[in-house]
Amino acid sequence: MNAPSPDPTVVLPRPAVPVDPQVFGRPIVLKFGGSSVADADRMRQVADRVCAVLPTPALVVLSATAGTTDALLDLARAAANGDAARAHALRDAIVARHRTLDACLQDESNPLLEAALASLDRSVDAALTRALPPLAQADALAAHGERLSTACFTALLRKRGVATTPIDARELVTTDDAFGNARPDRAMLARRAVERLAAPLTNGEVLVTEGFVGATADGRTTTLGRGGSDYSAALFGAALGAREVQIWTDVEGVHSADPRVVPDARPIELLSFAEAAELAAFGAKVLHPATIQPAVEANVPVTVRHTLRPDGRFTTITGRIAEQRAVTAVASRSPITVLTITSSRMLAQAGFLARLFDVFARHRVSVDVVATAEVAVSLTVDADVGIEALARELAEFAHVQVVRDRALDALIGERLRRSRTVAPRVLESLADFDVELLTFGANDSNLSLIVPRAVEHHVVRRLHASFFETPALAGRRDR
Ligand code: ADP
Ligand code: ASP
Ligand code: MG
Repeated sequence: MNAPSPDPTVVLPRPAVPVDPQVFGRPIVLKFGGSSVADADRMRQVADRVCAVLPTPALVVLSATAGTTDALLDLARAAANGDAARAHALRDAIVARHRTLDACLQDESNPLLEAALASLDRSVDAALTRALPPLAQADALAAHGERLSTACFTALLRKRGVATTPIDARELVTTDDAFGNARPDRAMLARRAVERLAAPLTNGEVLVTEGFVGATADGRTTTLGRGGSDYSAALFGAALGAREVQIWTDVEGVHSADPRVVPDARPIELLSFAEAAELAAFGAKVLHPATIQPAVEANVPVTVRHTLRPDGRFTTITGRIAEQRAVTAVASRSPITVLTITSSRMLAQAGFLARLFDVFARHRVSVDVVATAEVAVSLTVDADVGIEALARELAEFAHVQVVRDRALDALIGERLRRSRTVAPRVLESLADFDVELLTFGANDSNLSLIVPRAVEHHVVRRLHASFFETPALAGRRDR
């Protein structure tokens, strides 16, 4: 995924539309990710978490059950390739999974689920006849994951006697038509939230809606990018002036590194918005990259909690600088492609970089890291964006070298640059790795490195050992 960059047109720190806290009674937005709704046992835990906040007004934002979005996107690809057998097999598995889930949760027929399944079938048929352009078709299918999970969950809450209103996210989240990575109209969302949500929230109803999903003004379904349910939760939190956005997931908060890569990673109690945004952009999957911006603007705290361990540790993300520390976390992202553009003729001339970035802008390729030398510029881009046409255009006025299979590893911390010891320590602890590029971010909050992908996680572990574990570990080789 191309990390969505914050929208520069939004003026901080005011919300898009001033929110009257009296209108909504300051609800809590609770977002549950795919692993939290993966099966019936976990969904019951989710219902417990929701019931625990009552009678505080609550809006629940759900992801698709774990793996379902992947399956739907697979289905979209199969349909686009004309592979009807595979498309139907994937559809059947998704239907069976949600029927079983629903049957485990409650014993009555579930009209919401039936409607969502019928809509899925219409979408599969449309995909097989290629009724829509491929990206629009993929979004129309992918959105069904969240529709199915919310249909099952709404029925479960109702079975527990909780007054529950399902909200179709497409009626609130109006977006542009950048299918797969659509941008929402936040002022419109704030208006619609007042129109549609004030009454049921005031009546004490729990609202349940889909994360990840929106629609264009003319009603075509869009999605906000992979992992986008976090973003949806923050958008709703901002629109409602929520007292808190709770991101419920499968870890006890944001850790000093991905616990799957570094088992000794530790939860971070307080994280600033800036640090959280950096971490997300540098690949910490625990939060979607764009999540933080709406929450910052509306001054809504975000917490990250473990669905199965509600009394465990958790992270609070707030607007202030969190703690006096140089390094907050280590993150990494891959695969990355590095382009080195050399032009002895043009580099020193005024306007060269403008011309260069104009090419990237026209090809809609976003650049992460930039390093310049006298006659060369190195840039990194996500490997899954097509760069062939872009490289051809660059080659008209410069020599272009493309190096693939790289990783972007980063240290994150708001006080990073002020520390005199961080950079020397990084170099010392990575002395036996091929670090191909090392640079401080312009906002002083990250130090990033390009390394061969094969050593991505070794470097993360080494950096974590060096900055968070016993000093003796810092020099140990782990490869
Ligand atoms: P959800 O399905 O709830 O949205 P995700 O899988 O998107 O959950 O995000 C949670 C995962 O993020 C964790 O299981 C963990 O492996 C990963 N992760 C990556 N970096 C971090 C980090 N710094 N702290 C915590 N989790 C992280
Ligand atoms: N279901 C979507 C995805 O898998 C959105 C999300 O889970 O946040 O990307
Ligand atoms: Mg996620």
